[in-house]
Amino acid sequence: MKSIILDGKQTAEKIKSHIKESILTRTARGYLPPTLATILVGDDPASHTYVNMKNKACEAVGMRSKRIELPASTTTDELLEEIRSLNENNSIQGILLQHPSPPQIDERLAFDTILPAKDVDGVTTYCFGRLAMDQETYFPCTPYGMVLLLKEYGIDVAGKRAVVVGRSPILGKPMASMLTNLDATVTLCHSKTQNLPEIVKQADIIIGAVGKAEFIKGAWIKEDAVVLDAGYNAGNVGDIELSVAANKASFHTPVPGGVGPMTIAVLLLQTLYSWEGKFSPSLKAGSK
Ligand code: NAP
Repeated sequence: MKSIILDGKQTAEKIKSHIKESILTRTARGYLPPTLATILVGDDPASHTYVNMKNKACEAVGMRSKRIELPASTTTDELLEEIRSLNENNSIQGILLQHPSPPQIDERLAFDTILPAKDVDGVTTYCFGRLAMDQETYFPCTPYGMVLLLKEYGIDVAGKRAVVVGRSPILGKPMASMLTNLDATVTLCHSKTQNLPEIVKQADIIIGAVGKAEFIKGAWIKEDAVVLDAGYNAGNVGDIELSVAANKASFHTPVPGGVGPMTIAVLLLQTLYSWEGKFSPSLKAGSK
């Protein structure tokens, strides 16, 4: 059976046109467009590229972006001061602190200094807690992008066995909570997991969130499984051996063009929601 491609690029375009239209409608009534503030600390080239992409994506939908670049020597206190000033600035609806920060920064403290009402990247402990309780919230963008992609293709995960490989706070861990809220039976795997191939072989839904090129082998994928690969490694390859997995899966995300574009679309969508004065809907409420 030929696997259906979960087209993140196309789905992201649909979300972005909705955002653009919503902004046009409200600005026509006299509102100022929403503004996303991006904070970049240091000079990591990949982070620069990601922030550029986010700033450009804002422009394309009619949002403004305020770009803040701080030197690699910035202290936690200096960063917190910047975040607090953005919290108080009424013309800013969303704040994104690009991960990773330099090692001297207490990144968790910095994330948790972002006002939850402006946490459109879904990184605060507060928003994560609301996610865990299946409340409306701002979700971490990459896992929410994957959930919206599943919804777009009408894939119901209720009652299915899902395996998430990787437990980072921005990706694997929230993805496992979100799939649980959607009534999947979830196994969350990490570097200490034993018999990983055997666990993955049981899965109806597999999420690759490891950060190691083609780490999850095609041979581990069950026939007709749904395969989502969040990984993005050197050479444009994901965390799953897609050349093999795509021949067995019922649906799969390509790399690139799968999860990546959805991450940015969700960032913009949650900035729109913040401008409209609301959180993203809880997953159960959203699926009704
Ligand atoms: P991360 O913080 O490095 O976390 C990696 C996770 O993989 C950890 O939980 C780690 O387990 C687990 N892991 C490492 N080796 C393993 C092994 N041998 N067996 C099982 N699990 C193992 O990475 P991340 O930030 O979540 O990113 C993961 C991938 O997603 C990367 O390729 C990244 O580029 C990509 N990503 C893409 C987007 C996007 O927009 N498309 C956004 C974010 C990330 P421990 O917890 O035990 O160490």
